[in-house]
Amino acid sequence: MKIIIPRLIISKLIEHSLLEDPNECCGYLLGNQEEVKEIFLSKNIHKTPITRYTMDPLDMLEADNICEEKNLEILAIYHSHTHSQAYPSITDIENAINSGWTDPKYILVSLVEKTRPIIRAYNISSDKVVNEIIIEHDGEAYISPS
Ligand SMILES: [Zn+2]
Repeated sequence: MKIIIPRLIISKLIEHSLLEDPNECCGYLLGNQEEVKEIFLSKNIHKTPITRYTMDPLDMLEADNICEEKNLEILAIYHSHTHSQAYPSITDIENAINSGWTDPKYILVSLVEKTRPIIRAYNISSDKVVNEIIIEHDGEAYISPS
């Protein structure tokens, strides 16, 4: 299993993370099958955005509309970790399962090292199994240095 994210979208993802830092940012990656075509920046409406995220429900409606208009799907949900590794937290895993959103992939951006953000992708199954997915961009495999 993999996800293809164009370089331009990777840079927008990092840009969004740095813009919201020290708060967590969040949003959607829209596309078809395994290939991301668009990024949709959402507002993090959680009351403690420094360690948690909640996507604005209005943004979800808008992302849904864009998908319908352009015949895309929500392929992934992304958010940043400003003080921890690019791995889903226990809360992230529980939220994914409780919300029923286990079809989209989960993209994590870690800003532990601000000059070298780490991006990783995961599949979170309804039985709490987390598997890392390979990120490809522009045809080349991309695996973050650990
Ligand atoms: Zn998280």
